Amino acid sequence: MSATYYFCIMDKAAYPTPETFTRARSAELFEEAKQYFPGGVHSPVRAFKSVYGPPVFFERGEGCHLYDVDRQKYVDFCCSWGPLILGHCPPAVVQRVQDTVANGMSFGTPSPHDNLIGKLILEHHRYIEMIRFVSSGTEAVMSAIRLARGVTGRSKVIKFEGCYHGHVDSLLVMAGSGLATLGVSTSAGIPESFAQETIVVPLANIKALMKAFKEHAADTACLIVEPVPANNGLLFQSKSFLEYLREQCTAHGILLIFDEVISGFRVGFEGAAGMFDIQPDIITFGKIIGGGMPVGAYAASAAIMKHVSPEGPVYQAGTLSANPVAMAAGYATLQELLKPGFYETLEQKTAQFTAGLQEHCDKKGYEMRFPHVGSIFWPSFSSKTIRRSEQIDSAGIDRFKIMHLECLKRGVYFGPSGYEVGFISTAHTDEDLAFASKVICESLDITFS
Ligand SMILES: *Cc1c(COP(=O)(O)O)cnc(C)c1O
Repeated sequence: MSATYYFCIMDKAAYPTPETFTRARSAELFEEAKQYFPGGVHSPVRAFKSVYGPPVFFERGEGCHLYDVDRQKYVDFCCSWGPLILGHCPPAVVQRVQDTVANGMSFGTPSPHDNLIGKLILEHHRYIEMIRFVSSGTEAVMSAIRLARGVTGRSKVIKFEGCYHGHVDSLLVMAGSGLATLGVSTSAGIPESFAQETIVVPLANIKALMKAFKEHAADTACLIVEPVPANNGLLFQSKSFLEYLREQCTAHGILLIFDEVISGFRVGFEGAAGMFDIQPDIITFGKIIGGGMPVGAYAASAAIMKHVSPEGPVYQAGTLSANPVAMAAGYATLQELLKPGFYETLEQKTAQFTAGLQEHCDKKGYEMRFPHVGSIFWPSFSSKTIRRSEQIDSAGIDRFKIMHLECLKRGVYFGPSGYEVGFISTAHTDEDLAFASKVICESLDITFS
């Protein structure tokens, strides 16, 4: 290993205990970072504002483990927010990236790497015919919306409260009052006129949707949904609800966009489209598709994709799009996912893990559920099935803060927000999961005491 690690000496790293746990070096680095970067970070959630801070600075990942700058080791359930379905540094991916990077990092030209991953995806995904690579999930969604507007000649977008689609201007909006309303921007810097192009409806509410279609269908270019909403807890939707979206979009000439930036290649190689067997008009990808490198993509039928420049009039470009290193990481990752039994094994592991946690909570009488889909799970501090963001109780989110800290002190890392889901990778062994389960149960005992 030739890279320079400032603090983390691997062979001395061990799981912390409540007695030994420290964030001394993390805190120092964070103080310094705050002088350079707004809030000390490059993506807000990383600042640990919703849990007990300061943020932990990590320096190395291997398998399912993260190693911090205070020489402590954790079982990682954040997995970089989803991309790392094979864990950190899977050998096949690292090897391919190293081989590729040695031949140049970006040419700004087509390269054979594009074809390899393009062919691999399209041959194994029945719901798309052509694909365009970009560099993030946000960029994929932004481009998909432009494409939908270009194809339909309409301007409005219908989205759901509780679905996240990246920091796209017209999608950083929340519902105003009422059932189906024009959006109110949730960020400064978004003109009201942009937010007004977005109609926001609650999830799992047919009445609100009917109202939105009745009032706005003729002006609506697309309806975008996370088919497995996993950015506001895990708000699993019924198949019939998603089928209703498909029917209504078809009836009104609205393009249905499945934002599969999280669910794509996660709940199956064909993502939620395959899991529910629903044909969306456009699918957006990110996270896993780049195997840990910055990659996004949008894909659709050939007829729709032919509207994209240079074949069609919808402009979209990128200096580093489909750079060989990113394509190599994605290709090597996706190849692993196609191995027989890959998803079944991962799902079984997740089901068993969450069942263990559920059993502990039931025995102790804690109002907890661990909904899971594929290898995504969410510690929900409620005994109810939650399908809409407004059903999430803020008292539960306060409890999550305690659980998060207690887990951290014992060597288990969750993403720093109660609204975020956990991910299990193939690198999480039974032994790692047994350790994590014990830690989580102990932490819940403290949380509920
Ligand atoms: C993460 C995510 C995005 C944004 O992707 P970035 O790569 O962070 O820009 C968009 N949509 C969904 C569903 C996501 O989970």
